[in-house]
Amino acid sequence: AARNRGGNIAHFYSLETVLQDAEWLELESALRGAIKRDELSLHYQPQVDLRTGAIVGAEALMRWLRPDRGMISPARFIPIAEKTGLILPLGIWALRSALGEIKRLRDQGLPIEHVSVNLSARQLHQQDLIPQVDELLRQADVEPGSLTLELTESILMDDAEYAARTLKALKALGLKLSLDDFGTGYSSLAYLHRFPFDTIKIDRSFVQEMHTQNNGAAIVDATIQLAHSLGMTVVAEGVECEQQLAALRSSGCDYVQGYVFSRPLPTTELTSMLRDHPVFTMSPNK
Ligand code: C2E
Ligand code: MG
Ligand code: MG
Ligand code: MG
Repeated sequence: AARNRGGNIAHFYSLETVLQDAEWLELESALRGAIKRDELSLHYQPQVDLRTGAIVGAEALMRWLRPDRGMISPARFIPIAEKTGLILPLGIWALRSALGEIKRLRDQGLPIEHVSVNLSARQLHQQDLIPQVDELLRQADVEPGSLTLELTESILMDDAEYAARTLKALKALGLKLSLDDFGTGYSSLAYLHRFPFDTIKIDRSFVQEMHTQNNGAAIVDATIQLAHSLGMTVVAEGVECEQQLAALRSSGCDYVQGYVFSRPLPTTELTSMLRDHPVFTMSPNK
């Protein structure tokens, strides 16, 4: 996404923006209705340990099934939820559901180590975020370490001081923090290490470039080595093929998430995968 940083930017309304505004308004009111009608759900994408092939966790990803129009992508409705503040009740709902899901899986003897939930900028700046997350963790009846919150770099940069304090307070609750979409922003890992992240997620664009760009693989490899030397674990996102998998494995990447193993799944399908197929067979390293 294009980002404007400082400078003088001329604002004008093109036909495109007007149409986009109209579409947003329509989506906003539809989204309010959808929440009432329970049209939102969470799908879960398995995260796989590259050494063992075991499913160690899952990322919760919001889905909106509009009866008349099919699936609406979170890339479209999350920004609207952000802008309107609807993300606050939605975010709480997502946290409560994801914690409920991990408890339900464990109760069935299908343990996964953690569930990851995305946290948006608006939520980070919500006054009572810490007591709310604390309360949800208490109600959930799972160890706080079972929850990972994913945040992107752009969320931290508006007010880095505030973000650092808030992340520290979240960590003090016992949960884990993951830096999402790493590499798409402007900051170095050395700088981002000031924030108490346990994990970085290498963005899908870098995974793709491993085999399509000169030095693409070297950049991913160096990122993994640096993250490790800073004491962080590494998840690669959007891994789609065996070739990427092999390269990530030889670079010592810890975990992988992507279509090569599984798309995000409805809870019923996640449950059957954990029951019938909890460990993927890894082809030997080349
Ligand atoms: P994200 O957190 O970076 O999630 C990863 C996205 O990559 C997901 O898109 C996932 O379905 C997609 N993906 C996973 N594996 C592959 C692959 O192998 N190839 C390709 N091409 N894509 C893959 P999705 O589900 O459309 O979500 C988009 C974004 O919406 C997320 O990016 C996240 O920023 C946001 N989002 C989704 N659910 C939530 C939520 O509950 N709360 C908040 N605040 N944001 C959310
Ligand atoms: Mg994420
Ligand atoms: Mg991501
Ligand atoms: Mg993303």
